[in-house]
Amino acid sequence: MEFLNTIFSPTANEAVVNLIYIFSSALFIIGLKMLGSPETAAKGNLISALGMLVAVVVTLLDQSVTNFQWIFLAMFLGAFIGAIAALKIEMTSMPEMVAIFNGFGGIASLLVGSSEHILSSTDSLGILIPIFLTVVIGGLTFTGSIIAYGKLSGRMNGNPILYKGQQWINGLLVLLLLFFGFEMIVNQGLVFTLNWQVLTAIICLSFLLGILLVIPIGGGDMPVVIALLNSYSGLAACAAGFVIQNNVLIVAGALVGASGLILTNIMCKAMNRSLANVLFSGFGAIVASGTSKGEQGEVRPIVTGDAYLILEAASSVAIVPGYGMAVAQAQHAVRELGELLEGNGTTVQYVIHPVAGRMPGHMNVLLAEANVPYDQLIEPGDINPIIESVDVCIVIGANDVVNPAAREDNESPIYGMPIIDVDKAITTFVLKRSMASGFAGIQNPLFFKTNTRMLFGDAKDSITALVSEFKS
Ligand code: NDP
Repeated sequence: MEFLNTIFSPTANEAVVNLIYIFSSALFIIGLKMLGSPETAAKGNLISALGMLVAVVVTLLDQSVTNFQWIFLAMFLGAFIGAIAALKIEMTSMPEMVAIFNGFGGIASLLVGSSEHILSSTDSLGILIPIFLTVVIGGLTFTGSIIAYGKLSGRMNGNPILYKGQQWINGLLVLLLLFFGFEMIVNQGLVFTLNWQVLTAIICLSFLLGILLVIPIGGGDMPVVIALLNSYSGLAACAAGFVIQNNVLIVAGALVGASGLILTNIMCKAMNRSLANVLFSGFGAIVASGTSKGEQGEVRPIVTGDAYLILEAASSVAIVPGYGMAVAQAQHAVRELGELLEGNGTTVQYVIHPVAGRMPGHMNVLLAEANVPYDQLIEPGDINPIIESVDVCIVIGANDVVNPAAREDNESPIYGMPIIDVDKAITTFVLKRSMASGFAGIQNPLFFKTNTRMLFGDAKDSITALVSEFKS
């Protein structure tokens, strides 16, 4: 303790604390880099968490911190709730957990900014501007994330809520926020004499804006919104870092803000939609109103026994999982089928589309859970150029991400979205329960191609039946 007291004496303190903060920031960056590959992701997560632990410990040892009893109580409660939630959560419910955690990040930043505004009564622009940003971004991230959570968890109807003059009302709210921001930062109490009055107005308007910005977005687009809200929660934390002048919070917030934006961009690109289209078009409502084309020819069903005979003779198989694999929880059966095929001398690869499923990395997470080797996972760009030579593509509960209309029909709502060209393989099996459409609500011409065979039924049941055929 003597040693720590010397290092953290008020004079030596700042430089040492900042040096350790740089070390923490380096750990965040190394951790983030490692998250880029499934092989290193778990270790990367640990390294980033270690960086945060170091930052928290150093901040606590910094002599300006005194109220340890409250901090430890809050840390214990937070860690307890977080650990229980992480242990209990189903893999398929991960997006809504991320949504609610983003919301907590937003409200935490809002509370930091608000308390600083009320307690410090500062008139410095360098602090007032970040306080305003922390409260606005934190507030709208909080309520927006709660709505996203409600839509994803089914506690709220996932359909887009659209009404006349929606954008005008949102615009009006932004103008009101700017007015109160001006009052807080520039006028400094000219109209509203008390700090808490203008602060309360800004908090209420931010909460309302968060709700109104997210309700017009359909449940299926929520993962994109969550990536965006994740970025907002980072920006709010970054602004809070400026408020309390904590360098590591500024860096961590900026990293979350930037990576959330990059992820949002990747998802929009993979769907060939602009962010504005995701946020303002009410996509779910458009497709529900019927842009889809009807039946487009003859459907050729196949039974498991016949599918087995074709697979047994195949020398290359590409497995293309989609949202239906998550619904059926078929990932373990899929891995078993993959192993049996390999045992039979077949080359097996798993083709992962970036937006297959309902959250970024959805398929990677499920296949990793089932211990599918990472080196068998490939991207659409790896297989499309050679897909004509693949003997069998097994499409497991995927629909939009293998819809050739995205390539061929310029009137299709998904026209231009990069897809996996399974329709060009020698034979394609599509495993699904019915002829129902996928997320985009449109017909899929793949189902009517002459080289496509429909294996109807729950994906897990169908794969398990194929596994049994191989074993007998
Ligand atoms: P889709 O939503 O297009 O299709 C899923 C298919 O799975 C359905 O056609 C359904 O057919 C089938 N299915 C459902 N349950 C089962 C089951 N138990 N067994 C077998 N089949 C089943 O999924 P994709 O993965 O192809 O595409 C994802 C879509 O989600 C894209 O449009 C993407 O843009 C969108 N999206 C994805 C995001 C992400 O982050 N991944 C984010 C936002 C949107 P049936 O009912 O007949 O069985």
